[in-house]
Amino acid sequence: MFSAVFGHLASVVVEEVVVDDAVVVFAARTATREAACPGCGRVSARVHGGYRWRLADLAVAGRRVVIDLAVRRFRCRTAECGRRTFVEQVDGLTERFARRTSSLRWTLEKIALALAGRPAARLARHLSIPASANSMLRLVRGLPDKQPDTAPRVMGCG
Ligand SMILES: [Zn+2]
Repeated sequence: MFSAVFGHLASVVVEEVVVDDAVVVFAARTATREAACPGCGRVSARVHGGYRWRLADLAVAGRRVVIDLAVRRFRCRTAECGRRTFVEQVDGLTERFARRTSSLRWTLEKIALALAGRPAARLARHLSIPASANSMLRLVRGLPDKQPDTAPRVMGCG
């Protein structure tokens, strides 16, 4: 049941779940021993510290969800690589510098596209995934431009 509802947490180890009236906090850590450098692709197992990364996630039963994820910083050993260290990412969960999970960002983007600005922020607050009107605008601005092959096609004889 847990993995069906929280599939995006399948690749991390949930160590503790704290529930209060308004928020559910999942304290989790990654389970891998190594990570690939985003600069050069070389896999490194040399840990160079770490920190806790708090990510907002989709709400559960009307409560905000926070994933308090312990991530590690690895040292890249490729001499020519521009990155000396890098922070591991979890597919489907984290995105570089993001404060939201990938699924929450996706959901907020859809709301922002449908309603924009303040109405989008109001609906998100009701859904316990609060985001400001400015955040909603930034989400839409951050989307890639429409690809030509996704444009609607007009069927006809012309
Ligand atoms: Zn590298």
